[in-house]
Amino acid sequence: MLKLYNTLTRKKEEFQPIRQTADKKVGFYCCGPTVYWYAHLGNFRTYIFADILRRILEYNGYKVNYIMNYTDVGHLTSNQDSGDDKMEKSAKREGKTAWEIADFYIKAFKKNAEALNILKPTQTPRATDHIDDQIELIKILEEKGFTYKTKDAIYFDTSKLKNYGKLAMLDAQGLKAGARVEMAEGKKNPTDFALWKFSPKDKKRQMEWNSPWTPPGVRGKVKGFPGWHIECSAMSRKYLGEQFDIHGGAIDLIPIHHTNEIAQSEAAYGKIPARFWMHGEFLLIDEGKMGKSEGNIFTLETLIDKGFNPLAYRYLVLTAHYRSKLNFTWQSLEAAQSALNNLYQAFSKYPEDGKISREYKKEFEETISDDLDMPKAMALVWKLIKDEKVSDRDKKQTLLDFDKVLGLGLDKIKKIEIPDEIKRLVKQREKLRQEKKWKEADEVRKKIDELGYQIEDTKEGPEIKKGG
Ligand code: AMP
Ligand code: ZN
Repeated sequence: MLKLYNTLTRKKEEFQPIRQTADKKVGFYCCGPTVYWYAHLGNFRTYIFADILRRILEYNGYKVNYIMNYTDVGHLTSNQDSGDDKMEKSAKREGKTAWEIADFYIKAFKKNAEALNILKPTQTPRATDHIDDQIELIKILEEKGFTYKTKDAIYFDTSKLKNYGKLAMLDAQGLKAGARVEMAEGKKNPTDFALWKFSPKDKKRQMEWNSPWTPPGVRGKVKGFPGWHIECSAMSRKYLGEQFDIHGGAIDLIPIHHTNEIAQSEAAYGKIPARFWMHGEFLLIDEGKMGKSEGNIFTLETLIDKGFNPLAYRYLVLTAHYRSKLNFTWQSLEAAQSALNNLYQAFSKYPEDGKISREYKKEFEETISDDLDMPKAMALVWKLIKDEKVSDRDKKQTLLDFDKVLGLGLDKIKKIEIPDEIKRLVKQREKLRQEKKWKEADEVRKKIDELGYQIEDTKEGPEIKKGG
């Protein structure tokens, strides 16, 4: 039984797909990166978490339709409805167009994700390729009376929705305008958010589109762009339907972005878009959130330049539960790198043709199915390696099976090729032993030793290993 922690209910719940079909399909949407700069290690903690979740679903026999979007328009520097568009700001800084910025950082993201062994999502839609879908959704909200217009945007009126903020358990009453929350001109409630923003009169935007809307008192066409939240509602519906199984991201998305996604979908279709809402905790550095605006980030490139294997970072992420904070230090990364090296070394010496240990597989399944307890799963890996009751060839097969979830690249570890000459000597020694010619058999063993190979006699016959 797969149990997942659902932010919506603040409980671990048994996972069952919404549509219980024979082909065991599951729909999973994870909010993707804003592609205005390199994704940092903190961002990748979230995408590793999503990848592990997807792999666990697949390990449980589900076919996962995994959608991760690229936010390439509309995410403003404040995370609310003010400030510059991150894409346009980055374009100005780098002397490129906003479109070139998006293409460049999407490519960089894909390269890093691949190095981290993050499996490709089923589809990766871009917000700018779905402007029509977003406009259609805003039109539905308008028809149902959930919107109003100010001089700079079409807003969603959160007071029209019963129960706004249930995901975050927000206290909308407590969020009084003016107290701590800055209110844009014409905004009715502090929690209202922009669905469509009109392009500013004094600045030419690079990314802007025609829409059915104009600011009050303005005639003719005024271009504009979507707010940040509408893209995820429009694209998740398009690719996964009005209700799907799991929606994910990091915890900072709970109070605003996901709360507003829920508001939009509930208002338009009468449903909370996803059954499970899952959120990963932050990667910290010096005990504070790693973030671009905090100015304390490291990218995967920095780590590679320092000689680390990107998968050492993946290993490090696996040592913490996704709902616990993880403080990044170079020391802990070094420890993860040496643990990974030890794992590779142990694994590379194991011979082929073993069986998956049933006992260990059962324990592994129980562990990962308990809301992704990866630290415990990693402890199990080491328990297996040290277990003298399991043969080396079975260890190999079992670890390969675990690695479908862990993604630590064990399938790419070269198996040791045993030269024909060594194989011949091993056979010769076996024959001599059967004939009880112990002395001669020992001499052949010495020869094998001298050639750099070792024989270990096991229940299932001799195992050949390379080196000491
Ligand atoms: P962004 O590119 O800013 O849209 O962020 C992409 C994803 O990374 C979002 O789910 C963020 O919540 C998440 N994220 C940002 N900073 C961190 C961090 N320090 N640790 C974990 N996830 C993060
Ligand atoms: Zn989103």
